Amino acid sequence: MNRTRTILITGVSSGFGQALAEAALAAGHRVIGTVRQASTATAFEAHESGNAHARQLDLTDTPAIAKVVRDIEKTLGPIDVLVNNAGYGHEGILEESPTEEMRRQFEVNVFGAVEMIQVLLPFFRERRSGHIINITSMGGFITMPGIAYYCGSKFALEGISDTLSKELAPFNIRVTAVAPGSFRTDWAGRSMRRSPRQISDYDELFEPVRRARQEKSGKQLGNPAKAAKAMLDIIESDAPPTHLLLGSDALGLVRNRLSEMAREIDAWEALTVSTDG
Ligand code: NAP
Repeated sequence: MNRTRTILITGVSSGFGQALAEAALAAGHRVIGTVRQASTATAFEAHESGNAHARQLDLTDTPAIAKVVRDIEKTLGPIDVLVNNAGYGHEGILEESPTEEMRRQFEVNVFGAVEMIQVLLPFFRERRSGHIINITSMGGFITMPGIAYYCGSKFALEGISDTLSKELAPFNIRVTAVAPGSFRTDWAGRSMRRSPRQISDYDELFEPVRRARQEKSGKQLGNPAKAAKAMLDIIESDAPPTHLLLGSDALGLVRNRLSEMAREIDAWEALTVSTDG
């Protein structure tokens, strides 16, 4: 077995967070999971291994993030791995979706994750070790109508993760952005925030997309337990990647997107270089 690690995972109540916590505990690691409900915390800590610890935390409560992370370091640390998993999807045509929804989307998916990182970094830096795993999405590479705020938040987290990997390399701190495709979690079900429809001009474009996502919820291709196994592999790796796609849908769609981008860059190359000098 690999070295036992102490892993802090946000959002272990369902989906990827729950699956990763279960896989990590089964592999003998110690897991501290954050949840929003007291009852979920109690259930999580009842794990037979005795290695499961819970903390109540809502990522929109910024002062609480610092308190919780420092307390974990003091009472259960040192933390070896931070998995910024907690997040949700907002669905809605941009023109129909109040920017308040965008702020909330970024508050959880971006600011919450960055806040966790900022509080933990002094500890990681002092120890010259640590691994930050940010769960982004294939929506941090590709887009589709109706999830502008979500994709925006995941593009942001991809960019931040990439930059951070360069800033932290000298301190032996690894950063991996994990970008899953569609998986069978609560993401498109109870967790999704859907802005109501208002503008019939968008019906033709968006109604089939909204319907398909609702119909597919719970039947997606990706298996969270297998994603957990893959994430455990990178946690246990001596040389983890900076970016990892999960799922054949993510692989196909992101590859297409990158080659489309390359084609567009080539097509406009002359205009691009015309601005030098
Ligand atoms: P999920 O089953 O809905 O789990 C989301 C988790 O995040 C839950 O534990 C939830 O807690 C927690 N959470 C949500 N808002 C929070 C907040 N304000 N503060 C603290 N915790 C909060 O969905 P999931 O698919 O596993 O989502 C995990 C991550 O994967 C997300 O970042 C998501 O964007 C990403 N992702 C999912 C997919 C997919 O297809 N499933 C694909 C790409 C990326 P509660 O139980 O309290 O709501």
